[in-house]
Amino acid sequence: MKSLWSDADAESFVARYAPAGVNRDLAQRVYTTRLLGGDPRLVLHGGGNTSCKTTVTDLLGESVEVLCVKGSGWDMGDIEPAGLPAVRLAPLLKLRRLETLSDEDMVDFQRGNLLASSSPNPSVETLLHAFLPHKFIDHTHSTAVLSLTDQPDGDAICREVFGAKMGYVPYIMPGFALAKAAAEVYEQDPTVDGLILFKHGIFTFADTARDAYELMIGKVTLAEQRLEKGRKTLVAAAGLPKAPAALAEVAPRLRGMLALDQGDGAFKRWVMDFRTSDAILAYVNGAEVARYSQQGVVTPDHTIRTKNWPVVLPAPEAGQLDEWTAAAQAAIDSFVARYHAYFARNNQRSAIRKTELDPMPRVALVPGLGLFGIGASASAAAIAADIAVNTVESVTDAEAIGSFQPVAEDHLFDLEYWSLEQAKLGKGGEKPLARQIVVVTGGGSGIGAATARAFAREGAEVAVLDLDPEAARAVARACGGKAIGLGCDVTDAASVRAAFDAVAERFGGVDVVVSNAGAAWQGAVGTVGDEVLRRSFELNFFAHQSVAQNAVRVMTAQGTGGALLFNASKQAVNPGRNFGPYGLPKAATLFLMKQYALDHGKDGIRSNAVNADRIRSGLLTGEMIASRSKARGLTEKDYMAGNLLGREVGADDVADAFVWLARASKVSACTVTVDGGNIEASLR
Ligand code: ZN
Repeated sequence: MKSLWSDADAESFVARYAPAGVNRDLAQRVYTTRLLGGDPRLVLHGGGNTSCKTTVTDLLGESVEVLCVKGSGWDMGDIEPAGLPAVRLAPLLKLRRLETLSDEDMVDFQRGNLLASSSPNPSVETLLHAFLPHKFIDHTHSTAVLSLTDQPDGDAICREVFGAKMGYVPYIMPGFALAKAAAEVYEQDPTVDGLILFKHGIFTFADTARDAYELMIGKVTLAEQRLEKGRKTLVAAAGLPKAPAALAEVAPRLRGMLALDQGDGAFKRWVMDFRTSDAILAYVNGAEVARYSQQGVVTPDHTIRTKNWPVVLPAPEAGQLDEWTAAAQAAIDSFVARYHAYFARNNQRSAIRKTELDPMPRVALVPGLGLFGIGASASAAAIAADIAVNTVESVTDAEAIGSFQPVAEDHLFDLEYWSLEQAKLGKGGEKPLARQIVVVTGGGSGIGAATARAFAREGAEVAVLDLDPEAARAVARACGGKAIGLGCDVTDAASVRAAFDAVAERFGGVDVVVSNAGAAWQGAVGTVGDEVLRRSFELNFFAHQSVAQNAVRVMTAQGTGGALLFNASKQAVNPGRNFGPYGLPKAATLFLMKQYALDHGKDGIRSNAVNADRIRSGLLTGEMIASRSKARGLTEKDYMAGNLLGREVGADDVADAFVWLARASKVSACTVTVDGGNIEASLR
């Protein structure tokens, strides 16, 4: 591992933050924290922390010695000075007199000594940083160091590699007790460069930001060099299928099996994030994957994101998916049974009774394919997948020089069921459409774009499909989060199939489909050319059928129901003069909606439509609006608001109706009219 330190970059951080009153120490602390946080081999998703001890001036103009230490909720890779809140150092040091200190009291005391009351909570490892005397302290969960320490004889290997220049701290859960133990180890030999925390990570420290950082790089390099010696490779399992089943077929089945049935047609679903590579395949295809993957996490704080072990599924073979589904279900059932037993066993010995978390895996290993991260959102699934990929590297290296053995189960339980984590349960409720995957066709503009954004606001994971891939991607960016944009010609069956496959591969499946793409053709029905009528039927009827069929295919593979939503039109019930080429296929699509409700209600799939009329950003072009208002002798404004309420209706109003229908769990075969009131187009 190479040092990325640059004097010029360090100075540019000092210059950048100086106008905001950030001193040199803290600016350089931000710089090297980012250097460490930018490398996933050192730090992942909120793991690791850094600090510096410095002097600041308070409101009264008095100098105060403070510890600026990483705050919770900040990632080291993009940290700002605000992510390293200042805590008064003197009171922290006095805590060392205490025999014991609960985590709750520790957090409270740390908060009480913040210089700025609005700061985030200082790290739970704050006291460890405080009790060591050095100005700059760096802490990472280095993959290479963990590969050495997570061994049956990891202590001996670490002592051999790092020698007397490091102190060695036995595994203790982060908090007051670990802080005291680490300080005692340091004080036995104050000449050490840092500390190895067995089965947890590594600290380095120095008087300058550069020295602390470069000590970290140096120690990690020693670990990497040791891992290069005498390596053995993972042996592949025999009998893996020659032709693995397609990811797009496997993912929805797995997603359905993981969903928790809440009764009354409701499911607690998961979003998935698939990863594969040569290294991942060597790991999941290994003959001993059932051993090395089930030992536990490489460093305890991963357990909060991934649970202690992944579920190992059978290898899916093309054309044999029903057999695979049965075997995969059995693997998930035994994972769940093992999780319940683990909880019961450890809860019994714990002083305070804990609330059991859901028993579903957060990582699934699939021989022949790769691995899935699983989470309540695409972001959570990505974090689980990132950690799983990092685990593959760390465990593969550990197995290369010995055998992987992390901290014991009872310690992992203490982390997973930490009182500070348990206190968060039930707080911060999810958005109404969280965990749902929504596809919107014709999503690149108008009603489709408004609908995609509305679903994203409700917490859904959104896939925007449009003939114009650039427009689809632009709307996806506006949706934020992990939304994706894909090019799709809904009149081409292969293109629709490819788009649904891509969504299943990206997120794991599909729950809601808004079949919105359409266009208006005009012509008097007695004279209009067949060609016009057929083109309109391709887009305004057959495309809806193609989209809905693909949706039903994925939804029935999941077995957790779903919602089909069609953009019908006022034309479907109240034809406009010379609008036959548009109204006829739309009328058929309204009937199509009813047929899906009838045929697939048994699968828990609801089918509904929105009838919108006179929407400026809908199908009406500026030209159409101008000519129609002129024909009626109205201003454009009066024409657009020509409904019972006398108010213009917008794309966002239509989007709200789609969102409502997606949430209305007992509504099917229903058409919601969004047109400001039009008695001729009203339904019974
Ligand atoms: Zn740590």
